Amino acid sequence: MQRMVIWPLPMTRRGYTLDDCLTNYLADADMSDRECFRCGNREAVMKRTVVSWPRVFVICLQRFSNGAKDEAPICFSEIWQPREKDVEPDREYILQAVVTHLGQTIECGHYVCQCRGSDGVIRSFNDDRVTSKLWDEYAAEAYLLFFVEQ
Ligand SMILES: [Zn+2]
Repeated sequence: MQRMVIWPLPMTRRGYTLDDCLTNYLADADMSDRECFRCGNREAVMKRTVVSWPRVFVICLQRFSNGAKDEAPICFSEIWQPREKDVEPDREYILQAVVTHLGQTIECGHYVCQCRGSDGVIRSFNDDRVTSKLWDEYAAEAYLLFFVEQ
């Protein structure tokens, strides 16, 4: 089993829950805009699947494209049970940390780390400022989500 996986996850217009993004990412992709270099066939579908679920799942939301940032809030809960097919029903991840990006482009901005402490309290580490907040307050800035298997 892999210990950690970093997974780029595109934002989707179908809704901004983590499961929506994952479902979108794992959906069959039509590749008919490409052509086989040997036979010229254009009937192709790209399939993705999770072969082995890691202990630590790092989700990198693809908020940046063509220099612009998509700041749509994303819904995520502290407990994540992937609903994809082929996932064991008892597989469960707990959100341990969120890295947020503040700023308009990928070239500039400020990163802040939010972590759950051993006491269960979520703290935000913003340079020399440490505060406590709830995960929901990071929905529009979340960039990296660290889920750890329970
Ligand atoms: Zn071919």
